[in-house]
Amino acid sequence: MPGINKTAVPDYALHVLEVLERGGFEAWIVGGWVRDALLGNAAHDVDITSNAHWQESEQLLLNAGVTVHRTGIEHGTLTAVVAGHPIEITTYRVEGTYSDSRHPDSVEFVSSVTEDLARRDLTINAMAYHPVRGLLDPYGGAEDLAQGIIRAVGDPYKRFSEDALRVLRAVRFACRLGFTVEKNTHDALVACAPELAHVARERVGAELDGIIATGRLALAMRSEREVLLAAIPDLAPMVGFEQRSPYHCYDVWDHTVHVVEATEELSGGVASRRLRWAALLHDVGKPKTFTVDDRGQGHFFGHPSTGAEMSEAILRSLALPLSLIRPCVDLVRFHDRPVKATRHSVLRMLSDLDGRSPGEAVPLAFETLVLKRADALSKAPEYRGYAVEVDKIERMLRKVLSENAPYRVQDLAISGRDVLQQFGGRPGPWVGATLDACLREVVHGRLENTREALLTWLAYSGSPHR
Ligand code: ATP
Ligand code: MG
Repeated sequence: MPGINKTAVPDYALHVLEVLERGGFEAWIVGGWVRDALLGNAAHDVDITSNAHWQESEQLLLNAGVTVHRTGIEHGTLTAVVAGHPIEITTYRVEGTYSDSRHPDSVEFVSSVTEDLARRDLTINAMAYHPVRGLLDPYGGAEDLAQGIIRAVGDPYKRFSEDALRVLRAVRFACRLGFTVEKNTHDALVACAPELAHVARERVGAELDGIIATGRLALAMRSEREVLLAAIPDLAPMVGFEQRSPYHCYDVWDHTVHVVEATEELSGGVASRRLRWAALLHDVGKPKTFTVDDRGQGHFFGHPSTGAEMSEAILRSLALPLSLIRPCVDLVRFHDRPVKATRHSVLRMLSDLDGRSPGEAVPLAFETLVLKRADALSKAPEYRGYAVEVDKIERMLRKVLSENAPYRVQDLAISGRDVLQQFGGRPGPWVGATLDACLREVVHGRLENTREALLTWLAYSGSPHR
């Protein structure tokens, strides 16, 4: 692997290194920037580590006219802002446990940079770089980067038991870089994964969301399954759950792995976060809803709505944002809903999606179809042909959208004012309900969306809502 070219170090980082070193201290760039620069991408934020105490760094930087924020002085961390670029500067330290993945509960300052590197989680994250002194890599991080290996610094059992969140960090970096977890590190991940039960759920949620964001969740599902099951115990019943159905050739877990992979492929590797989460969770309701009929065939009646409820509970407990949870739960709820390649069926889908996630119906409809296609392609070979049907549905979807076909109340050719005029009376919720009733007729194809037709229909149907 080629080394780091010193011209890759941004000027603002050079400036901070110089200010600290002119003041008589030692300073290095560490962590993510060094890792990514060795991979040929020197765009990561710069973190600097130094033997200067934060008060000393602060004084030197202020004297040099640099803005400084005390962002974590309990842990020896300052943030300098040079030409608009924030740079974290942390004193060499070793530490107790981490409570938020970056800031440990207690720290002890040390005098050597190699001691500081020893407290870092993975070899690829435990390198330091200096434009004059070069790369400092006591744990073989550069070699592991070149070989595509995730390896803990030091004894992996010890490192993962000190801070169970590292278990998920290791998997996140494996997914982000597409790397393999080295055998001892993997064994320690499996052994220490149950400790995740004691980590705050929102920290687990943030790391899982980070894994999802890499687009390589399937890699973690295949290679580090125990870690994911420890992080989301509701997934565990899916493993080995036989479907006893001619539609399926995989158990629920393996089917899900295929769906996650297919979702990514069908989205060109840029699936949205909510779609990726939905692919993982779409069948989470299956084990709970399983029944066997007299012929011995398995069924999962109601699994999408049970799955939607479970997904909502899971995502909420992980403290993920509601803006992600709501549409994701809709995708789970809609993934198995029958849709036909007809105008009315597609409008109904849009209308129902809009009812649940107003304003999101169009992207959600396309995402529902990706999920349906991925789901079909992950069934028994003779049932994969449904994917072709999904293509037809998508063509119909594009057609109705290009024609601005109505699926929302605001698409109707009449408004609340017309309803009031027709029936008199005071404005109130009944007006909206009347318009909803009109929309239902239009979406089902029983009524044309013209002013005349709508007003005539209203005149005949009366106003039950007043
Ligand atoms: P990115 O921010 O791109 O995900 P990063 O390497 O900058 O990657 P951060 O979480 O920002 O990762 O942490 C910065 C550095 O701090 C890491 O490179 C690693 O050396 C160290 N580090 C962070 N969290 C831990 C932890 N829980 N245990 C040990 N070291 C950690
Ligand atoms: Mg970082």
